[in-house]
Amino acid sequence: MQERVIVIHYAEIGLKGANRIFFEKKLMQNIRRALQSGGANEVVRRHGRLLVYPSADLTDTEIRHRLKRVFGIAYFSFALAVERDLTAFCETSWQLLRQCSFDSFRVSTKRSQKDFPLTSVEVNCEVGQYLGDRCNKRVDLKHADATVVIEIIEKEALVYVDREEGARGLPVGVSEKAVSLLSSGIDSPVSSYLMMKRGVKLVFVHFHSQPYTNPASQELTEKLVEHLTAYQYYSRVYFVPFIEIQKEIMAKAPAELRVILYRRYMIRLATEIAEKEEARALVTGENVGQVASQTLSNIRTIEAATELPILRPLAGFDKEEIIARARAIGTFEISTQPYEDCCSLFVPDSPATKSRPEILAKVEEGLEVADLLTKTLQETEVKVFKLKDDARPAAERQRTTSNSI
Ligand code: ATP
Ligand code: MG
Repeated sequence: MQERVIVIHYAEIGLKGANRIFFEKKLMQNIRRALQSGGANEVVRRHGRLLVYPSADLTDTEIRHRLKRVFGIAYFSFALAVERDLTAFCETSWQLLRQCSFDSFRVSTKRSQKDFPLTSVEVNCEVGQYLGDRCNKRVDLKHADATVVIEIIEKEALVYVDREEGARGLPVGVSEKAVSLLSSGIDSPVSSYLMMKRGVKLVFVHFHSQPYTNPASQELTEKLVEHLTAYQYYSRVYFVPFIEIQKEIMAKAPAELRVILYRRYMIRLATEIAEKEEARALVTGENVGQVASQTLSNIRTIEAATELPILRPLAGFDKEEIIARARAIGTFEISTQPYEDCCSLFVPDSPATKSRPEILAKVEEGLEVADLLTKTLQETEVKVFKLKDDARPAAERQRTTSNSI
């Protein structure tokens, strides 16, 4: 008996006590969703690990690509499930090890069922001896190039060599929902990624100034959401026409307060959307000191426009760190395509850096925006994105609908 199986280990969710089952179930559900488009995949829970029996039409490359984007996975391995028998351990270990290039190796056995007659150390020695006789390479218990792992569980044993790093974090969906303000810049896709990594399910909001700006920023936002949807499988984006409110601000407010006013109205509209979505927080890509609107005083003034907490996962990052992360996630190339941002269009040369909420509230009394806010929400368009089936060969993809989960 030999069966292809993927062994998935999770780290942090193991610490969640009574909630552990909830975290595990969400992770299983997300793994199914990530792999689903390739066919039926069986995912089961066994002694603190998950086992995936993949459908035959998914290759290891496709599976690796998809699992690497599932938050909550610490690491995973492509294994063979065999009967609990020393000869099977030896032969399967050699079958896997001989495909690797290495100078040193070791065997690491874990028994979650203690009823197996040999101890872990005894299995290590027996299998190590068998492999050593065949490969003629040295054993290195501390820094081996290749580690053969044998996990002995209830009815079978899982044999694999080495492991793939997972995305870590928490499964998307275990940490409630938030509304993420997504511009088409570099920062907000990274802040979105970091919150999804903490298990938060995101709804996106993008403000545009069409027809004064061309549709490029909206198109880039769509590309970014498509990219980020690989981590949460389903996304809703609200495209909010912001131009009428901007015009009112332009006409009546002091130039140095405009950017802060734009932000306060964005936050108010996002809060309305959050209420409708039953989201518990807002997320932005703001970063202390990066631009004039992001001084602590201005952050405080902007924050005063909502009752909801505003999460700013990038607050303490340097720009280079944000860029490095954007590159690693794959959003940098999209964010750096040219576009006209709704705020850069109407930004004054020197915005105020030390604003106060009371002053802004006073200025807002002179603006006629109540009806505009209602109209803006009525004219907001919602678009749905589903996981793209991008791990399959191009020819196969054409046969399915591009947005199918
Ligand atoms: P980014 O790279 O995310 O655009 P930035 O450094 O350009 O960030 P700002 O333009 O000051 O920063 O915006 C701060 C935050 O406000 C953004 O990270 C984003 O969360 C939100 N934001 C700004 N413009 C928009 C927009 N047009 N639509 C949605 N959210 C926006
Ligand atoms: Mg921006």
